Amino acid sequence: MTMLIRVDPLKPNEEILRKAAEMIKEGGVVAFPTETVYGLGADCFNTTAVLKIFEIKKRPADNPLIVHIHDKNQLALLVDQSYERASAIIDVFWPGPVTIIFRKKPAVPKEVTGGLETVAVRMPSHPVAFKFLQLCGTPIAAPSANLSGKPSPTRAEHVIDDLYGTVDAIIDGGETPFGIESTIIDFSREKPVLLRPGPATVEEIQRVVSDLQIPEFLLKKTDEPVRPLSPGMSYRHYAPEKPVILVANEERLDEVLSKYPDAPVVCPQEMLSRFYGRKTIVLGTLKEPFTIAQQLFSVLRQIDSLTADVAIVIGFEPRGILFSVMNRLRRAATEIVE
Ligand code: AMP
Ligand code: MG
Repeated sequence: MTMLIRVDPLKPNEEILRKAAEMIKEGGVVAFPTETVYGLGADCFNTTAVLKIFEIKKRPADNPLIVHIHDKNQLALLVDQSYERASAIIDVFWPGPVTIIFRKKPAVPKEVTGGLETVAVRMPSHPVAFKFLQLCGTPIAAPSANLSGKPSPTRAEHVIDDLYGTVDAIIDGGETPFGIESTIIDFSREKPVLLRPGPATVEEIQRVVSDLQIPEFLLKKTDEPVRPLSPGMSYRHYAPEKPVILVANEERLDEVLSKYPDAPVVCPQEMLSRFYGRKTIVLGTLKEPFTIAQQLFSVLRQIDSLTADVAIVIGFEPRGILFSVMNRLRRAATEIVE
């Protein structure tokens, strides 16, 4: 049985959240909204509960989870290195959509970290997540609350579609504000490395961490297989079941359109007039690129409900938040037109 709990995202009712926190203490799994996407949480020190997350999501065991905390003091339970080099990031971005990789304490179960000697930690700023974590009192291991491979959930309805009946509770706090998963920075190595671009943009991170390394696989134009530093990054991901053609080079748009005359097009508002006569789905506006990130996964889920057998998605100039959006689109695409 799955309990559906609706809360006011800004002023969540504490008594109701307490019920969900009790479920966690009893070894249950609970989906909850964060400022990035919905997470599926369990007590990070309860291995049986953590294994339930993998079973429910059908997630490969080597794909590690992010541990969520509400208080910096909880780092001492998880981390086996000095936080000094990461302190500027913590001061500027926590609570918020940035995850930090540290060397882990032996007490952190290897099931949480996919067998790695490092642990990913984040302190969310969403009022529901923050309060829920406080009431749980223990760090919460939580990946995105979707079935493995599907686009991450940005609305409670997405979580219901994927996980209703298999989780103990779903906390509905409305649409998640950023809509894409956290920025991940690895501080366990000699130099800080960006592992996943997210809502905190590369430009913003570089203002705080001047020696940030950006690995080749994030900059690569082609999608040739490269060995990723972050295990979860090797899977096709965020993907609708239908094939998606990503047009990364606008000069080849006409060629793609004539090859797929019946394919619907996903594009920003500004480009709509180029597709008269075709089914279109609007993905935000270039004037407010954060709306593009916010709507991205909802739109990718929408593609599967269309009758066409293939969809065309128009790519973006990979700058600021749109660099993160393009990272997700590249991994959702079955074909990239460069
Ligand atoms: P999700 O919350 O579903 O976006 O999944 C968490 C992602 O965080 C994983 O797929 C990995 O890419 C990344 N991650 C978690 N822990 C680690 C770690 N110890 N080292 C590198 N990447 C990690
Ligand atoms: Mg995920």
